Amino acid sequence: MVARPRVPYFSFLSITLFLAITLSVIGLFPIGFFPIGLFQLELLAPISLPAAYAEKPPLPASAPPLDYRIQCRYFPERTTIVGRVDLTWPFPGAQPLEQLALHLYPNAFRPGSTFRKESSGKHRGYTAGQGDDGEMEVTRITANYDGESIDVTKSLRYIQPDDNNLNDKTLAAVDLPRPLRPGQRLELAIEFRTRLPRVYARSGTAGPFVMAGQWYPKLAAFERYGQRGRTREGFNLHQFHANSEFYANFANYDVQITLPKGYTVGATGQETAPPVVQDGLQTVRFGQAWVHDFAWSADPRFRLFTRTVTPQGGRPVEIRLYCQKDHVHTADRQLDAVAAALEGLAAYGPYPYAVLTVIDPPADAPGAGGMEYPTLITGGTPSFPGERSAEPDRLLIHEAAHQYWYGLVASNEFEEAWLDEGLTTYTEGKILERYKADTRIPVRFFGFPLLYSPLRDGCPGLFRAALGPWVPDPIRLDSWKFASEQSYAVSVYNRAALALYSLERLIGEEKMQAILSTYCSRWSFRHPGTEDFLRIVAEKAGDRAAKLFQQWLSTPGALDYAVGSVRMAKGPDGPVWTIRIDRRGELGAPVEVAVIGKDGQRQQFFWDDGERYKEFTLPGTAPEAVVVDPGEKLALDINRLNNFWAKEQNNAAALRWSLFVAAVCQGLMAVGL
Ligand SMILES: [Zn+2]
Repeated sequence: MVARPRVPYFSFLSITLFLAITLSVIGLFPIGFFPIGLFQLELLAPISLPAAYAEKPPLPASAPPLDYRIQCRYFPERTTIVGRVDLTWPFPGAQPLEQLALHLYPNAFRPGSTFRKESSGKHRGYTAGQGDDGEMEVTRITANYDGESIDVTKSLRYIQPDDNNLNDKTLAAVDLPRPLRPGQRLELAIEFRTRLPRVYARSGTAGPFVMAGQWYPKLAAFERYGQRGRTREGFNLHQFHANSEFYANFANYDVQITLPKGYTVGATGQETAPPVVQDGLQTVRFGQAWVHDFAWSADPRFRLFTRTVTPQGGRPVEIRLYCQKDHVHTADRQLDAVAAALEGLAAYGPYPYAVLTVIDPPADAPGAGGMEYPTLITGGTPSFPGERSAEPDRLLIHEAAHQYWYGLVASNEFEEAWLDEGLTTYTEGKILERYKADTRIPVRFFGFPLLYSPLRDGCPGLFRAALGPWVPDPIRLDSWKFASEQSYAVSVYNRAALALYSLERLIGEEKMQAILSTYCSRWSFRHPGTEDFLRIVAEKAGDRAAKLFQQWLSTPGALDYAVGSVRMAKGPDGPVWTIRIDRRGELGAPVEVAVIGKDGQRQQFFWDDGERYKEFTLPGTAPEAVVVDPGEKLALDINRLNNFWAKEQNNAAALRWSLFVAAVCQGLMAVGL
């Protein structure tokens, strides 16, 4: 999903600050001490695809460890889905199992749920209105094993392992009358009724538009001994939270949806049979093997646009765009962005599915936009996209990138959201830099792009724009334990992506590429954890790099290096200059320091002992400038303005700058903002 922390465009004060920082960083209004010219964004060399990836079979030859057959009917007037899940599970554990666990996610939309409590009915800027409740009721569960069919409905009870909130019904336990033995095949029939809310958080309806995500009862992810460091096998049990997404095992899906005839349906996987039309209703059938979820969307207004692309080293992929009628003028732009994403992602391995479906939500359903499901993503088309705007391209590239880090490797989004969102945001940046080098942030007023702010340092600049100085959490943390939605978003998206950029700039792009493509090929369909990723970092870039990256993930706080002071003392042979560099944040890194002398002559120092400050002494004439991290390797550094010191401070430029800010303020006040 995209939960990019919002750069606060709309408030008068914040826009002034935003403009001030952006413009000063790009050097349009140089504040006296800013040594322009030292810092150029290094153009990135194209990545060539390792030959081995073309040979890898697209999907595992074996059957997925779980099988879902779902039949359901959608009733638009009640926004309700009534259906039945037939689930087949060859039990993968080594110990007998007495209890099953089911996610009943739509109960997050019930009053009193943990999701509601934590979010106060708001989700990523969209608010639940009155009557926006939703729910899921499980009406019957039958367990079939040992040659016997047993009704276990009565044993279902809601459990709340994360917060003991008894009103939360998003996770349920079901007792099995006899323990399930290792290797034994369980068949489970679950009848359910889901009332979709008016959409404000991913799943729901808006008029005739339906976005059905997490809409059926799902078996919780089962983890074996040793997987992600587990010391005991079992289900990964978490309720649904405001700051959390999902985790499930790979499965085969065969889904039939009955709904009124006029709807056009887009769904995970491919249509496996022609629609059956009867009595004003149609039944559509979709299927896909080796995916860990199934989502669908329907709207009578959808217009279908398709394009087939063959990413380098992969198989043909059909992009199916279900576009809103009033967005058809953007269809090519949307297809172009998704095609570019698939091409860029091929650098990490082949996309193994035959389709990628793109749902374009209508203007009154923005809460459904910017979300990933297996082989299906939802975009978001602004009413006035603007040619230079990064949207809707950036959003589509982000969601398409999820097809690898969420879809293929499928890490645990409850406990290690950074592994998905961080890698996805980093990958989004890498693809966007090539696809749309002139990325700009539109500054919007009432949806209309008034002006575009160019950003220095490409996508790291874009991600850094939202960082605040106050970072209370580590990047790696259980999703519901972050201090706030803002801290979650800043940490698992932006800071994680910036940590990956920093790692790349320290070890080199080639090693970074090797880390990600190895991670993708080794861990696809296997649910890795952070330690599995770190092991690959150590393997490709050495133990020190892995340790450093681990420290960035696990330490609460910021990375901020600064020029502390530049002092002169008289020595017996003339003046001696002492330069103090500070580590002002909790995170450490190897740091380069450049001292620029007269005539531009430059001396380079290196500091990597993890202390809070370091002094360098230099005899001779006064330095002209001191620069910490001159190569801008530490993309994670939250404040670059304190990385510079210069002997001459140009007050005229500072005055010009102040006058500009004052003029902007007056201009905004004049139009009543
Ligand atoms: Zn995302």
